[in-house]
Amino acid sequence: MDFSLNEDQRMFVKMFEDFCANEVAPLAQETDHKEKPPLKQLEAASEQGFLGAIFPEKYDGAELDMISYALLMEHLGKACASTALTINVHVALVGSAILRHGTEEQKEELLPAMSAGEVIGAFALSESGAGSDAAALRTSAVCQGDRYILRGSKTWVTNAGIGQLLLVFARTSDEPGGKGISAFLVDVDTPGVRVGYREKTMGLRGLVANTVYFDGTEVPADRLLGQEGQGFAIALEALDLSRVGLSAICLGAAEAALENGTRFAVEHEQFGGPIALKQAIQNFIADSRAEVEAMRHLVHYAAWLAEQGDSRLRTQAAITKLICSEYAMRIANRMLQVHGGYGYMKEYAIERIYRDLRAMEIAEGTSQILRFLIARDQFAPHGISLRP
Ligand SMILES: Cc1cc2nc3c(=O)[nH]c(=O)nc-3n(C[C@H](O)[C@H](O)[C@H](O)COP(=O)(O)OP(=O)(O)OC[C@H]3O[C@@H](n4cnc5c(N)ncnc54)[C@H](O)[C@@H]3O)c2cc1C
Repeated sequence: MDFSLNEDQRMFVKMFEDFCANEVAPLAQETDHKEKPPLKQLEAASEQGFLGAIFPEKYDGAELDMISYALLMEHLGKACASTALTINVHVALVGSAILRHGTEEQKEELLPAMSAGEVIGAFALSESGAGSDAAALRTSAVCQGDRYILRGSKTWVTNAGIGQLLLVFARTSDEPGGKGISAFLVDVDTPGVRVGYREKTMGLRGLVANTVYFDGTEVPADRLLGQEGQGFAIALEALDLSRVGLSAICLGAAEAALENGTRFAVEHEQFGGPIALKQAIQNFIADSRAEVEAMRHLVHYAAWLAEQGDSRLRTQAAITKLICSEYAMRIANRMLQVHGGYGYMKEYAIERIYRDLRAMEIAEGTSQILRFLIARDQFAPHGISLRP
């Protein structure tokens, strides 16, 4: 067992640190306070090849292994979670699905454009009545000759308002559950697609998440991703990968919270000395540091499983995302407490980090659904088949 990063990975870490310090962190507060889409950050990321981070060089990607990808997400998450999540959706949810299930024509057309940032990907799965129960989605895709006609709507589609490509999951047959769902690559400018209202969010205020409507949208048959009926499996597989990325973002944001809290505890004085000398504060710092290290190991293990194509990733990604999102949230909560009243003020980064992290226990599978998946896996060998 080898816990060390290889030479390439160490070099990447330096590159990610420099990139985030120069191009992402300085814009984080403004991105949040002004609800600015992270377009400048995306442009800078595309120049470094990060928008095609895990795509093969053949498609102008950076061909990073999954540990390096997790390191990239960690550093981006530390600098600005809005930017990190925007890129994770583009690369790990949309790009990975095309890479694994696209035809050669689809890959050649879309992946280089995604690497260059000319096309930003959005993942359109959730609907107003189908969030945790995504297989209950109602958007329909009816085959008519050489095209499909899409009708329905999708909620909270991250990147829809800044992207060009929608990966849309729609029902192509009445087969129950996930079996009747297919995936489509839909250009946002297709007649019959309407990108609606941009959601106002508590945190991640740089994220551009919109409702998207499909009203008789004609999608050419060659825009079907994978086979008919394979869509739900494609979505779950993409979620396995993106949960690794999202967990790494939580790790990075938790590290940022811990660094901010530590610095504040050293600089801020009460009762004649730095509050760092008070045991209550030391306990906050110690518990948080211990949890950060636990998160790091989980993230690297899940990324390693993803790299191996190991089937244990499904449950491990759920475990990792559950723990990382919940640990990160409570670390941010403790570090806000360390800041006292200052922590509640917009001037301090911990206030933003706290709000950003709250979304991580909901997006890409709520903590309750992840616990269900883990319990289902645990009970299965005992002949108990759990239903959500
Ligand atoms: C910031 C953000 C970005 C997002 N981006 C995207 C995106 O790009 N694309 C996309 O498709 N979706 C996106 N989503 C939607 C996200 O995937 C859903 O919010 C999530 O899956 C939960 O669905 P829901 O909100 O409809 O809640 P519901 O499923 O309605 O759940 C409500 C509550 O009930 C609980 N619950 C539901 N079922 C069970 C059960 N069986 N057992 C126990 N508890 C249960 C849930 O845990 C939750 O607490 C985003 C969400 C957020 C917050």
